[in-house]
Amino acid sequence: MKIPVEALTELVSRVLARHGLGEGSAEVVARTIVAAERDGSRSHGLLRVAGYLSSLDCGWVDGRAIPVLRESGPGTLEVDAGNGFAQGALAQAAPTMRAMARRVGCAVMTMRNSHHFAALWPDIEPFAADGLVALTMVNTRSRIVMWGGTRKVLGTNPMAFACPREVRPPIVWDQASSIMSQGEVLVVSAAKGQLPDKVGVDAQGQPTVDPDAVLQGGALLPFGGVKGGSLAFMIEILTAVMGGARFGFEDESGSIPGALTSNAGQFLLLIDPQRFGSASFLERVERLVAHLQGGGTTRLPGDLRYQRRQAAERDGVEVAPAMHEYLETEAGR
Ligand code: NDP
Repeated sequence: MKIPVEALTELVSRVLARHGLGEGSAEVVARTIVAAERDGSRSHGLLRVAGYLSSLDCGWVDGRAIPVLRESGPGTLEVDAGNGFAQGALAQAAPTMRAMARRVGCAVMTMRNSHHFAALWPDIEPFAADGLVALTMVNTRSRIVMWGGTRKVLGTNPMAFACPREVRPPIVWDQASSIMSQGEVLVVSAAKGQLPDKVGVDAQGQPTVDPDAVLQGGALLPFGGVKGGSLAFMIEILTAVMGGARFGFEDESGSIPGALTSNAGQFLLLIDPQRFGSASFLERVERLVAHLQGGGTTRLPGDLRYQRRQAAERDGVEVAPAMHEYLETEAGR
């Protein structure tokens, strides 16, 4: 069945609010979930609702958290999300970050004590749509083996980058440090499928194509071998070490029944490109894109999402009847 974006957002928001998420945050988180579903990022769309609810229901996430913002310098902002979802805290920090980036030329935010259970691109696309270059990273509980190790030691630590364009929507890439995100593994597991080779190892550190062996005690491999691991390491430094968030290995969710999200951190960098003597920034981006296209590139990161978004905004978001029934039930309708 197809449901209009706003109606689906209202439904998901109602579900989250009914499970204790404050009204403002419920709408912000619902928008992130529905945006992922709308754009075809299904691993972080409606599939995740049950996880959000579970973490709220068992008290692992504080649905009433009040984020605390502290401007620690002219272009730096520290956020303590108060054990709430990261999206609610980011929504509160965004106006300060925008203003700082315009005033100073760049703005850096670290967020700690936050639960990020979503795709990253929705966090930064709006900044790039306003002309700012944006980079964000999140650390998560340990899921990947590193630098020749056999046991999971760091998270699938994702990062996303957004670049403004002249007329078209921003170019946004968003990727995990692992070959495959945990969400994708969940999708394969739910479909009773097999993983491609060299994606994960089992609890004994042996290669496996069984998604459940990866999920139950196994681990994922970083993309690009050592290089993806190096990015995961950098993300842990910027979020946990610099930002004071919990390390992925300190996350306690594994020992708390129902806790499915990680209490960890987020890093965000905004840059006003006009500050770098390049009034022609947007023109030069287009020149670069044209060059890539000249080399045979037909799809830029984000293109497919924008196409799916256009279709979903026109026709509604495709929702499986069982999922719709689940949402209606959880919404108490
Ligand atoms: P993918 O491998 O699916 O995609 C990575 C990026 O590559 C995307 O930006 C995608 O663009 C782009 N891309 C893919 N194929 C092409 C192509 N043929 N040409 C050009 N660009 C292409 O992402 P991952 O599996 O690594 O991550 C999936 C999601 O999981 C991400 O949104 C990430 O934020 C999220 N995640 C969240 C975590 C959390 O704790 N919150 C933890 C780990 C991951 P496009 O978007 O257009 O497909």
